[in-house]
Amino acid sequence: MPEERPKYYLTTPIYYTNGLPHIGHTYTTVVADAIRRYKRMRGYEVVMTTGTDEHGINVERAAQKAGIPESEFVAKMAVAWKALWDELGIPADEFVRTTDLRHVRTVQWLFKLCKENGYVYKGHYTGQYCIYDNAFVSEAKPGDNCPDCGRPLETITEENYFFKLSALQKPLLDFYKKYPNFIQPETRKNEIISFVEGGLKDLSITRTTVRWGIPVPGEEPHVFYVWFDALTAYLSAVGGPEYEKRGFWPADLHLVGKDIIRFHTVYWPAFLMAATLPVPKQVWAHGWFLMDANKMSKSKGNVILPRPIVNMLGMDAMRYFLLREVVFGQDGNFSYDALVTRYNSDLANGLGNLASRTAAMIEKNFGGKIPKSGAHLPQDDGLATVAAETVGEALERFEKFEFARSLEAIWGAIAAADKYLTSEQPWALGDSEAETQRKATILWTTAELLRIVTVLAHPVLPESTAKVWTLLGQPGKVSAVELDGLRWGQLATGVQLGKAQALFPRVEKTEAIERMEAMANEELNPAPAPPATAPAHAATPGGAAAAPAAGKIGIEDFAKVEMRVGQIKTAERIVGADKLLKLTVDIGTEIRQICAGIAQYYEPEKLIGRKVAVVVNLAPRKLRGVESNGMIVAASVGPEGRPVLAGFPEEDVEIGARLK
Ligand SMILES: [Zn+2]
Repeated sequence: MPEERPKYYLTTPIYYTNGLPHIGHTYTTVVADAIRRYKRMRGYEVVMTTGTDEHGINVERAAQKAGIPESEFVAKMAVAWKALWDELGIPADEFVRTTDLRHVRTVQWLFKLCKENGYVYKGHYTGQYCIYDNAFVSEAKPGDNCPDCGRPLETITEENYFFKLSALQKPLLDFYKKYPNFIQPETRKNEIISFVEGGLKDLSITRTTVRWGIPVPGEEPHVFYVWFDALTAYLSAVGGPEYEKRGFWPADLHLVGKDIIRFHTVYWPAFLMAATLPVPKQVWAHGWFLMDANKMSKSKGNVILPRPIVNMLGMDAMRYFLLREVVFGQDGNFSYDALVTRYNSDLANGLGNLASRTAAMIEKNFGGKIPKSGAHLPQDDGLATVAAETVGEALERFEKFEFARSLEAIWGAIAAADKYLTSEQPWALGDSEAETQRKATILWTTAELLRIVTVLAHPVLPESTAKVWTLLGQPGKVSAVELDGLRWGQLATGVQLGKAQALFPRVEKTEAIERMEAMANEELNPAPAPPATAPAHAATPGGAAAAPAAGKIGIEDFAKVEMRVGQIKTAERIVGADKLLKLTVDIGTEIRQICAGIAQYYEPEKLIGRKVAVVVNLAPRKLRGVESNGMIVAASVGPEGRPVLAGFPEEDVEIGARLK
């Protein structure tokens, strides 16, 4: 029997599905994923839950607007959210939807327990109600107008079930005292304690005016209202009424945004206490990423999306930035400028450069086999000491969720290795036996430090550290290394280095920012037929391509399209756009930059000198953020639309000749 590992259960919020994820949601999920990977490397069996909150009046309305049933609307949203997490490499172990049957059962069961224990009673809720929108407006006073439609609100009283939150004031305060780490960070704790000390009002937990919700058994048309439904999803995900079988409840950690900490540290433990169920061990509230000191929101138009960043710089770059840039728990500013600066300095010049130069020197001097260390000099032992201290510091910081500090320590070790190489200058040593020995020691020492930082950075940079691990030819997977056993001197020697691959290619800042902004713009305002995804442009360009099938065009329409023979001068791939090639094309009168969707079928270097047909009077536009001034004509072949360039094999045609 394998030894049973300790269990660790963490959650992100169950995200509300009336929109799609932006960088704020991505931040929470990235943090959860980094903690999950870290805990696994410390020997835990980990479950990470995320999901979608699918009930309520806003979903009812959004579905109505889309003209589809609620169930269909939320199914689409859940698919989109789940797909994005999968695409970003941060999939949930449990993806819970509040419309799941397992969740419906759990909410009804929790209600039954609370009711049996005397914490639920039927009462009346009076509030300001919009009869046009069918919703209470919680913050409105009698006589106010509806904030949504502007029409007068009515005072309405409806029958509700209430939860006796007032009865749990003392138990909650006792709980906070007994478990001082339950609410994190500290600054939030005091805020919550004084809120509870100020007295708690009973909470309305059902509605009869909302249709799209979980029914209260035997009490229709009552449905559960917001928090009693949504919070319970954490428990539904790991077994609900049968939670003891899986052994993941109580949760070790709920990660939340600071706006919902009250619900997680007051209502949620209160519901569980009333039901005599175990209460989670910790709730951690993080801050916001702000854009120019404003909270990001779709309505403000300052939303940062994850995909353009990932397309341009890679997922690891985004993860690194989110965790390195701000102190976890505080607000931070998001800017593309800071992102690209960090990318170039810490990733391209830092980890990426150390890995590639170390590998290159081992390749050159030892035939790509990691050498054994010879006799140590004090400076070699100095780097070993730095590494040992870094292991201690980085793990201690990570354990406290001080991600920025942990990464700072790791990057301190990378800087120490750079300094060590600069002063030892292995490249200046000759080929005598003594000098070869010395080179072996220096390169072993550097490679060993690189191995250690690779292991330590793995929870934050899973993809790139796996590449460095392969590059170093180390056995097994980096994710399987046990952090608690990480020591200096474990580098496998005599092994062959893996194939070198670009880790973090340097990017030019202005261009990178322009392209990320353009890609975000394309995603937020999708064109009817996005040109970047079309394999090539075989059809007539512009509006004419959409001409009705039945219609024929006159010669004067065709004459509007100016096509000329061009010659490809340069061709290169575009980071972040696997389908596109960036070409410069001589069209006789000038040289144009043109993007073509042919990267999956044509090697850039083989295109140089080739003559092609170019539509030259097409209005310039941006594809994946890169300016394209004209279009290369290609046939679209087969069901997958493989592009085949139109050309002139028979005769040596003159560059700039017009096609008629
Ligand atoms: Zn209204």
